[in-house]
Amino acid sequence: MGKFIEMSDALMNYIGKVGVREHAAQARCRAETAAMGRISGMQISPDEGAFLAMLVRLTQTRRYLEIGTFTGYSALSVALALPADGRIDALDVSDEYVGRARAYWQEAGVAEKIITHIAPALETLDLFLKSGRAGAYDFAFIDADKTNYAAYVERCHRLVRKGGLIAIDNTLWSGAVIDPANTSDDTRAIRALNEALAKDARFDIALVAISDGITLLHVR
Ligand code: CA
Repeated sequence: MGKFIEMSDALMNYIGKVGVREHAAQARCRAETAAMGRISGMQISPDEGAFLAMLVRLTQTRRYLEIGTFTGYSALSVALALPADGRIDALDVSDEYVGRARAYWQEAGVAEKIITHIAPALETLDLFLKSGRAGAYDFAFIDADKTNYAAYVERCHRLVRKGGLIAIDNTLWSGAVIDPANTSDDTRAIRALNEALAKDARFDIALVAISDGITLLHVR
C-alpha cells in the first residue's frame, strides 16, 4: 500500500454515497450544471463541497467571502453549514450563472445568507477594502480566473482576519503544475503562486490533494 491512492470514477461514486450528505437542491444544482456540458468542470466536486462545509463548521465561520460562484454549488454547500446569522459575499462576473445559482439557494432556504456582487472580483474586493472591511472575514474561498489568483490572495490576506482561513481551488491544475512543457498563462500563474506561497511567512500552509488540489492558508 502506498501513502496515497489513485482516484477513479468508481471510488468517487463511493465517496459520494458514504461520505457526502447532499441537500436535494445541491443534487439538482449538480445535475443541471452537468447538463450545461464542458463548462460544468468549473463546479466543485461534492466531496470538496462537504470539505468546505466541514471547515466552515470547525472554524465557526460567520463571514465568508467567495471569489468565483458560477452556478452556486460551493456557496450552497457553505451556506447550509453557516449559522443562521452567517453571511456569504459571493463574487462573480456572470449574471447568467449567478441567476441559476439563486434558484438553488432559494430551494434550500439559504438565499438570505448570500449577497451577490456581479463585477470583476478585484473591483469588488478593492471596494470592500475601501469601505472598511479589512479583517472582517473568517474564511475566503478563491476559485475564479487563475491569472488573478495572486492578486486575490493579496486582497484576501487583508480582508480575512488573523487566525482566519483562505482556501484556493485548483492548485494542482490537473497535474500541469509539474509539467514543464505546459506554459499556458493559467498554469504559469498557478505554478508561480504555489512557489511563492511555499515560502510566504504570512501564512501556515497545507496543499491537500482533494479534487484538483486545494491550498489552505491560515492567516498568521
Ligand atoms: Ca475550481
